[in-house]
Amino acid sequence: MDVNYDKEFEKIKARIDRENPPKLLLHVCCAPCATACLLRLADSFDITLYYANDNIMPREEWQKRLDEVQKLTETVNGGLFETQPLRPLDLVVQPLDTERFLTAANGLEKEKEGGARCAKCFELRLGDARNFALQHGFDMFATTLTVSPYKNSRLLNEIGLSLQTPALRWLPSDFKKHNGYNESIRLSAKYGLYRQHYCGCAFGRTEM
Ligand code: SF4
Repeated sequence: MDVNYDKEFEKIKARIDRENPPKLLLHVCCAPCATACLLRLADSFDITLYYANDNIMPREEWQKRLDEVQKLTETVNGGLFETQPLRPLDLVVQPLDTERFLTAANGLEKEKEGGARCAKCFELRLGDARNFALQHGFDMFATTLTVSPYKNSRLLNEIGLSLQTPALRWLPSDFKKHNGYNESIRLSAKYGLYRQHYCGCAFGRTEM
């Protein structure tokens, strides 16, 4: 059955007590994707950004994307972003370990982008977010990855749902709805954020 994850997201948001917002760990793939997601999340959640992306190659690119996430965090917390969050953003960085991604992608290097290697890649990163969130008392976890038209939102949500526990809920989303991807392009230009032209790993370097 087709689930409308955007509607599921809105239903959850409608029930939130903004005086006591849920602690959300938001897995962030890059700053441009985070911009549009923050527009949808800022008024309802206490957000920590989690940069955990062992898939990004080479290291210089991983660092460049991280630098932009840090820049966006400072912009938001400095009151200079489009919308203000309920609480200042936190940013947590998981140190890069490319071997973990290579192990997950082993044997799937020749898969097309969007295929089995990408599913493993999603599982790795969402699994990292889930583990950190569980260890640090978050209420929910989510990912910015659903903003991209190149990413399968249904698969991302199915993986997220499979990882949730009674104490830690997956926040379903389909951030590409409501013009999310175009908004990420607009906001990246407005705030001078670098937008990469490939997904991340060395095996899927198709231009976006
Ligand atoms: S193409 Fe992107 S999603 Fe797929 S495995 Fe590579 S980095 Fe991960």
